[in-house]
Amino acid sequence: MSFTIHGIGVSGGIAIGQAHLVSHATLEVDHYVIPPSQAAEESQRFEGAIGKVRAEMERLRDSVPSSAPAEFAAFINLHLMILNDSMLSVAPRRIIETEQCNAEWALKVQMDALLAQFDAIEDGYLRERKSDVIQVVERVLKALSGQPGYAPPAISADSEHNLILVAHDLSPADVVEFKQHQFASFITDLGGTTSHTAVVARSLAIPSIVALHNARHLIRESELIIVDGTQGVVIVNPDRQVLAEYQLRQHQFEIERQKLRRLKNTRAATLDGFVVELHANIEGPDDVVEARENGATGIGLFRSEFLFLGRPDLPDEDEQFEAYRKAAEQMEGMPVTIRTYDLGADKSAEGESSRSSNPAMGLRAIRLCLTEPRRFLTQLRAMLRASHHGKINILIPMLATSAEVEQSLVLIRQAKQSLDDEGVPYDRSIKVGGMIEVPAAALAIGIFVRKLDFLSIGTNDLIQYTLAIDRTDDTVSHLYDPLHPAVLTLIAGIIKAADKAKVPVALCGEMAGDTSLTRLLLTLGLRQYSMHSAHLLDVKQVILKSDLTRLKPLGRRMLRTTDAVKLQALLVKLNS
Ligand code: PEP
Ligand code: MG
Repeated sequence: MSFTIHGIGVSGGIAIGQAHLVSHATLEVDHYVIPPSQAAEESQRFEGAIGKVRAEMERLRDSVPSSAPAEFAAFINLHLMILNDSMLSVAPRRIIETEQCNAEWALKVQMDALLAQFDAIEDGYLRERKSDVIQVVERVLKALSGQPGYAPPAISADSEHNLILVAHDLSPADVVEFKQHQFASFITDLGGTTSHTAVVARSLAIPSIVALHNARHLIRESELIIVDGTQGVVIVNPDRQVLAEYQLRQHQFEIERQKLRRLKNTRAATLDGFVVELHANIEGPDDVVEARENGATGIGLFRSEFLFLGRPDLPDEDEQFEAYRKAAEQMEGMPVTIRTYDLGADKSAEGESSRSSNPAMGLRAIRLCLTEPRRFLTQLRAMLRASHHGKINILIPMLATSAEVEQSLVLIRQAKQSLDDEGVPYDRSIKVGGMIEVPAAALAIGIFVRKLDFLSIGTNDLIQYTLAIDRTDDTVSHLYDPLHPAVLTLIAGIIKAADKAKVPVALCGEMAGDTSLTRLLLTLGLRQYSMHSAHLLDVKQVILKSDLTRLKPLGRRMLRTTDAVKLQALLVKLNS
C-alpha cells in the first residue's frame, strides 16, 4: 500500500531507494535482583561497558577526516563528555550496590532521573541535549548486551547508494559513521531544524528529513521509498506513475546541480549590471573549503561561539587565534567576518546553562560578553592577532543600545593597546560592525550607522523578536514569517539608512539563502548576502537571471502591501 509521511526537510534533493531500518537499543530493559555477593561483579560489568563505549567513541573521534565539518568532532566530544560525567559513569554503580539490581536497570533509573531534570530546563539548546544523553545511554546498553555499537549494516558498498536509512533518532556520532558510507538519504522520527542531526545532515548534502514522528514504525525493511528533502515528504511504496515522476524530477535536479557548479567562478551580477557579493556562513575554519568550492567571495558570518560548544573548557587565546588565522589564510585576502561569541539563549558553553526563564531575551551575545570582559578581551586579542594574516572584520551580535556599541569599542581599543604594548602586529584599520537583529536597533538604526563600519542583518533573530516567535519552539514555527510586513519594513529601513550613510550592509540570516526571497531582497537594496555554502550557487543563479530595474516597482508594491495573500501573489509574480 502506498502512503505519504510529512516531516521537516533539512537537506534538499530527491532520493529513491530501499528502506534500511536502523535499530537502536529499545531502552526497555529487564530488572532483576543481584545477590550482594555479585554486586561487585555487576559493577565491573557496568564499568567494562562504559570503557568499551569510551574506546569506541575515541576511535571514531580520531578517525574523523580533517575535511569533515567542525561540528563532527565537537559532537563526538560532547557524547564523550556525557559518557565521562560521573552522573552517568559512576552513579549507576552506587544504584547497583544499594538497590541490588542489574547494571542495565541501574543505568536506566539514573537516566530517568537525569532526564527529569532536563524537563525542567527552559534553555532550548540544553533541552535538545536530552536526546544526546539518551543516545549515549543506548550505546552503553548495547555494550552491556554484547552488541557492537557502530556496526554498519551488512550490505555491500555498491548497494549503499540506493539505501535510505530510517531511524527513530540518529545521534551525530551515527551520522559521522554514515559519512564513511554512501547512503542515498536518511530520515528520522525525531529532531528539529536546529537539532545536531539536522546540522550535520545539511553538511553531508544528501536529502534528509526529520520530525516524521512514526516513520520507523510505519516503514518496513526494504520497502521502496522516495524522499523529497526539499518538500519534507516521504512516499512509501509509490505507484509506477509517481515513481516515474520522481525519477524524472531527480534527474532534473541532478542536471541542475551540474549546471550550477559551472557558475562557481561567475561574478554574481544582475542582468542590468548590479553586482552582488555572496558570502558564506561558517561555524569553524574547516568549513572554508566548502565555502570556496561554492564560489563564496568572503565569509560573511563566522559563528565563533561554535568553538566554545561541546567542551568542558574554554578555548584559550592561542587556540582561537589559530582558528581565525586558518580561516583568514584560506580565504586568501577575501574578507572573513568573525562574530564575537553569541553564547546564551540556545547556545550555552559547558556549565553555563542560562538561569533565565526567557533565555532568548536574557544574558546572551554582546550582553554576556560585556559582563565577562576578560573572556571577551581574550577573543578580541585572538581576532586582532589573526587580522595580521588575512582580511578580518569584527562583528558584534545582538546590539540594542548605543552604550553597548561604546563599551564594545572601548574593549576593542583596550585589546589593541595590550597588543601594542607587547609589540604584536594586527590590522590597524580592522573594521568593526554590528548585527542588527533586535527590533530596537532596526528602529534606531541611526545610532548604529554613525558608530560602526558596517552592519549585518540577522533575520533569524530579527523575526523572532519582531513577531515574538521563539525560533526554537516547534509549536509556533508555522507563525515564523519572513514576509510579515513588519519584518519587510524593518529590513528595508535598515538597508536604506545604511545606504544613505554609505555604510555597507549585509544580511546573514536564513533569508539570505532562501531563493524565493532573493529577488525581493535585491529590490530592497541588498547587495551582500551571507548564507550556508550549500545555497550559494542557487542564489547566484537567481541573481544572474534578474533584471532589477524591471523588478523594483514590484518590490516597492510588496512593501506597501499588508494583505498576506496579496503579498504571496506578488512574490510569485516577482519570481516568475
Ligand atoms: C541571525 O540571527 O539571523 C543570525 C544570523 O544569527 P544566529 O542565527 O546565529 O542567531
Ligand atoms: Mg542571531
